[in-house]
Amino acid sequence: MVTDSVLRRAAERLTNSETPLLDARVLLSYVVKCDSRTLFRELTEEEEARFDALVGRRAAGEPVAYITGEKEFMGRRFLLNRDCLIPRPDTETVVEDLIETNKLPEPRILDLCCGSGCIGLSLAFFIKGSRVSLCDISEGALDMARKNAGLHGLEKRTEIFRLDVISEPFPKGFDIIVSNPPYIPTAVADGLEVTKTEPRLALDGGEDGLDFYRAITPKAFAALNSGGVLAFETGYDQGRAVSAILRNSGFINVTVKKDYGGNDRLVRGEKP
Ligand code: GLN
Repeated sequence: MVTDSVLRRAAERLTNSETPLLDARVLLSYVVKCDSRTLFRELTEEEEARFDALVGRRAAGEPVAYITGEKEFMGRRFLLNRDCLIPRPDTETVVEDLIETNKLPEPRILDLCCGSGCIGLSLAFFIKGSRVSLCDISEGALDMARKNAGLHGLEKRTEIFRLDVISEPFPKGFDIIVSNPPYIPTAVADGLEVTKTEPRLALDGGEDGLDFYRAITPKAFAALNSGGVLAFETGYDQGRAVSAILRNSGFINVTVKKDYGGNDRLVRGEKP
């Protein structure tokens, strides 16, 4: 293929990446506006220059998803800016569980700390009768969530507004409350590569990483309908601690589920 040598040369520059060839392929596809594997012609000079510049940004540490401004999640496209955490495949565990276990035809769903909106909007898309409220403290993230609601034609069944989950009360009457809050302990976040490239506001969960679970859980209990579900994404080793927070607030049938990598990822409980 004509693009093979171009990709190989680019991948050689991406020595910091764990997936150099994939990164190069995604960036090249972005430049040529089609899957680079179906490009059977030489690159124009202009394309080559643009690709070269993007590979330079990636080589300097910028994540591919911020360079292209988008990321796939649950098989769908989500637009991103630097105010949004980049959607992770691990988070699909949370969304899939809620889709599989929901029995209500028209559940009311609240997604707290929604970022790009990938969790709440995926639920809105796959649970056709649902109505979803998405909130975040960051106006920049809310802009993206609104764009993504439009992109997926979900404006009519979604509402998007600013909410500080730590200090403000929650609206009431929900059947499902879901959140992937910041959960990395401050000292750990200080030493992580991800904190250099993604918003600290979306990652730092306070001294032990559990600040948001402690703040959200009792307010979520009050905001849920009887029989409603609270579902949290958690850090890989937080299953037990977050389960205890849910039980202490009155939730029953509290369970931990692992992601495809074998790490704790979802803690869910029901309001009696
Ligand atoms: N999963 C993210 C990471 O490990 C953290 C997400 C979060 O704090 N909610 O980089």
